[in-house]
Amino acid sequence: MQRTTMRRDIRTLKPEDLSQLVSDLGQPAFRAKQIGEWLFQKNVRSFDEMTNLPKALREQLAERYSFSAPTETARQVSRDGSRKYLLTFSDGTAVETVGMPRRNKLAVCISTQAGCAMGCAFCATGMSGLMRSLSAREMVDQVLHVADDFNERVTSVVFMGQGEPFANFDATVEALRMLNDPDGLAIGARHLTVSTCGIIPSIRRFAELPEQFTLAVSLHSAVQETRNKLMPGVKKFTLLRLHETLQLYTEKTGRRPSYEFAMIDGVNDTRPEMEALVDFCAGTLCHVNLIQLNDIPSSPLKPSPQEKVERLQHLLEMHGVETTIRNSRGQDIDAACGQLKQRFAVKKAGE
Ligand code: SF4
Repeated sequence: MQRTTMRRDIRTLKPEDLSQLVSDLGQPAFRAKQIGEWLFQKNVRSFDEMTNLPKALREQLAERYSFSAPTETARQVSRDGSRKYLLTFSDGTAVETVGMPRRNKLAVCISTQAGCAMGCAFCATGMSGLMRSLSAREMVDQVLHVADDFNERVTSVVFMGQGEPFANFDATVEALRMLNDPDGLAIGARHLTVSTCGIIPSIRRFAELPEQFTLAVSLHSAVQETRNKLMPGVKKFTLLRLHETLQLYTEKTGRRPSYEFAMIDGVNDTRPEMEALVDFCAGTLCHVNLIQLNDIPSSPLKPSPQEKVERLQHLLEMHGVETTIRNSRGQDIDAACGQLKQRFAVKKAGE
């Protein structure tokens, strides 16, 4: 019976693994840097493209390793220039990624899991449950795909697509470091933002990292009962404990977390809700991003009127809380926050 050997994807190797590999192959140390540049800066898809390596070395690598970059199975382009991609990995798992160009900048929103187990009431992804967590390399691949497609340098990455990054903590941190690596994409740590719905032990671990990565917390209500309904996956991490943890985070890091607050008509835009948010934020280091909830046709939750969004901004600012009203990008292609969900409606790539 013929046996097939599974070759490991070379793109999963870390810089130290590459050093070990070239040493095992009896090659000089600088070859590791060359291979790393092809893999992480030039994003090549075959060993033949590594033209500064001797042919014999390329052949040795091809015998031992494979390439398994994701393939783009669908895409949509928004009127505002954002592009949403459905990227499929070699095991058939697909995730969504969004590229958002703006004035010489290119931001990418990546997924950290296929699906999500958190079940947030306002989120299209949460409705379909978790399929699996992604590896660090699969997260970085999403960024490389967008960079290639726009043929531009990616200037910032938000881990805000499908999934809860802190439910996949180690791979998320590994991906952050790969993106930040000066020999790789070299994206500044402050331009790498991880968004969590408030997993407290992971926020504590995040605070211990030496890099200046940015933290965003999906808050969506500062009233416990409302938040439990909107975000049942973090019910056990109470607002009181979350508040304490965020204070520890700011003391430890000196950095300002941002709070995401999607405004939902009649749910979290009432006067008591607004006052609770002011109490949660006033006197602390934070920045609040107010977003009008994106409309998911099948959801009973609807966006607050613009006038209420502005009222809440005014109230927060009166209490010294810096607040921005954010416009979601890519709403017409369901790429905006909370709308990422694999749909059959997406156009096939190239159509
Ligand atoms: S909002 Fe984020 S954490 Fe909540 S269900 Fe959606 S993807 Fe998961």
